Amino acid sequence: MNYFYKNLSIWLIIALVALFIFNMVKKAPESFYKVPFNEFLQKVDNGAITKVTVKEDLIRWTGHDGTRYETVVPQDSVALARMLANDVTVNTEKEVKPHWFLQTFLSWVPLLLLGILWFFFMRSGSPGGGGKAMAFGKSRAQLIDPQKSKVKFKDVAGIDEAKEELAEIVDFLKNPSKFTEAGARIPTGVLLYGEPGTGKTLLAKAIAGEAGVPFYAISGSNFVEMYVGIGASRVRDLFREGKKRAPCIIFIDEIDAVGRHRSAGGGGGNDEREQTLNQLLVEMDGFEVNDHVIVIAATNRQDILDPALLRPGRFDRQIMVPLPDVGGREKILKVHAEKVKIGPDIDWKVIAKGTPGFSGAQLANMINEAALLMTRKNAPFITMEILEEAKDKVMMGAERRSMIITEKEKKITACHESGHALVAWMLPGADPVHKVTIIPRGRALGLTMQLPEIERNSHDRTYLFNNLCTLLGGRIAEEIVFNEMTTGAGNDIERVSDIARRMVCEWGMSDAIGPVTYTQPDPLNGRPGQILSEETARLINAEVRKLVQEAYDRAKQIIEENRAALDAMTRALLEKETISRQDIEQIVNNAQKT
Ligand code: ADP
Ligand code: ZN
Repeated sequence: MNYFYKNLSIWLIIALVALFIFNMVKKAPESFYKVPFNEFLQKVDNGAITKVTVKEDLIRWTGHDGTRYETVVPQDSVALARMLANDVTVNTEKEVKPHWFLQTFLSWVPLLLLGILWFFFMRSGSPGGGGKAMAFGKSRAQLIDPQKSKVKFKDVAGIDEAKEELAEIVDFLKNPSKFTEAGARIPTGVLLYGEPGTGKTLLAKAIAGEAGVPFYAISGSNFVEMYVGIGASRVRDLFREGKKRAPCIIFIDEIDAVGRHRSAGGGGGNDEREQTLNQLLVEMDGFEVNDHVIVIAATNRQDILDPALLRPGRFDRQIMVPLPDVGGREKILKVHAEKVKIGPDIDWKVIAKGTPGFSGAQLANMINEAALLMTRKNAPFITMEILEEAKDKVMMGAERRSMIITEKEKKITACHESGHALVAWMLPGADPVHKVTIIPRGRALGLTMQLPEIERNSHDRTYLFNNLCTLLGGRIAEEIVFNEMTTGAGNDIERVSDIARRMVCEWGMSDAIGPVTYTQPDPLNGRPGQILSEETARLINAEVRKLVQEAYDRAKQIIEENRAALDAMTRALLEKETISRQDIEQIVNNAQKT
């Protein structure tokens, strides 16, 4: 909006200055001495006037002394004759009209202003635009100059396959003629898909950095505005600008905001989005081989994209950017550790092992948190202990020590978490318990953290069943100890239902249903879901219930058999708030001895 007002005021100033100059240049009106009409007649009779200029009803003359006079001839001659006969002084006047040019100009001013207003309104798009994005006019893309973009492939770690696939594009941007002469077809559109924080933006930047070309970045959500037509015009502008600076990279983050499947719902008023998407398709189809512009788009919802976007000539190269594995995590950690002071006790392999499922962004965040903690603690460098604390923070949200919790709540939470931990501990094959805490974090009152021994890409039935048991352990412990149910287990129960349902409907893990999928409706990608017969629906529900009941019974059995360990663990938690794997081991061993 700033931009808009700035321009408007500039135009207003220009208009005012123009008006001012015009008035200056325009001849100042000559002054005439106004004479009543009868006086004029007298002067005529006296012979005082020898020469007049008549212009319509205006009569002007110059006196002997050089004074200029004027009078206006009255319209009604009958009335005039009578007035003159009776010696009435007839003062006549003429309305002074401004110059015709000024007049027209003035009458056009409001319209002109409206026009200017409209022009800038359309130009700047909707109100609320950011300041710096305006550097690139209408499309609002952020431009990173090749000189300034310092990200290189070496800054992107742990996703080597994606990097390899993109190396060709770097080559092309560096030396387009080599490719075009050879008649090679270079993709104009590349889609990077994968979970948030896996480094898609970073990769796109690195391509630009490696090739030394400009990088235009815009988010798909920036295209979809309130006003119909703006998005499409922004797309047009973005591509026009990109072609001007070719070879270059246009990066569209969150492409799903524009490119969502057209039949999918997502609220009314999709005209704007559809227009924008169409414009994007038109622009991509209009690419010539020697435009040397490469469009890279990123999304974490590749499944909901409109198929039209993925057709040949558009985003026909799709590269998955996965979450890093253990080795990848180690490399990413090392890349980010270069910027901070690291103590001698740091073993990146151990940290990498202890951070399964972390994205590159989370790992970067963890190192950053560790650096902050180091400063807060006045430590000379980052230690394993500091990293561990930083990890907890990234993983579970900041501790909320200030949250007021009653003694009763605290006891129930300790018991609940002990329930989870004990069941997980006792089940062979469940992920080992890493840490249990009753310090509130994020929205949770307490947490039981499990860490897998090995990286898992698929889960067997036993593993999933163990998960169900562990999740139910919290609620069961509350029931056994307090003979009461609380809302604290709400999230656990939600997850239990989700896992159990998917075991039955997606993974074919129930005997009665067999290996058949029953898809659930997904409003996001417009998948309607299967229409189930009443009988099938009832069968599915029965199987889910049966599975959950089995898990429930198993978990209950474990807790009842190890009641002493449960109580000891609850006490330890109330005392220390956080207990480690070693603590649990000791508690369970001691309890089993007695
Ligand atoms: P995405 O676009 O996939 O959501 P980003 O590229 O924005 O993720 O990643 C955010 C930040 O996380 C990056 O700026 C970088 O600091 C870090 N990061 C993510 N992935 C990696 C990686 N593979 N190597 C190094 N750093 C990474
Ligand atoms: Zn729980």
